[in-house]
Amino acid sequence: MEIHRQKCQFCNSKRLKNVLVRNPGDPDKVYVQCHNCKELVASYVIAPLGYYHHGKGYESFLRGVHRSGDFLSGRNINRLYEERKTEEMAQFQKVLEHLNKKEEDE
Ligand SMILES: [Zn+2]
Repeated sequence: MEIHRQKCQFCNSKRLKNVLVRNPGDPDKVYVQCHNCKELVASYVIAPLGYYHHGKGYESFLRGVHRSGDFLSGRNINRLYEERKTEEMAQFQKVLEHLNKKEEDE
């Protein structure tokens, strides 16, 4: 696993701001802005169903599914949501462990 803590390439700050942009018909896009020098750091496009908003619950997940154009049965979506929540939390825990280890080594 390769883990990178994103930082500003202009001023080295790790204080970054994510700006989520939704345009009907376009995939969701995130702009990363440096909180310190206000420069654009990066932008990326989110794949359909690629966005998981933790703590926002099933309704939020459902809206994401509908935006992506996938219409599954209610039961399937509920299972998908539970699996996604479990998976994201487990993966994020792993990421944090790697990141903590890496930052200790630095
Ligand atoms: Zn900066």
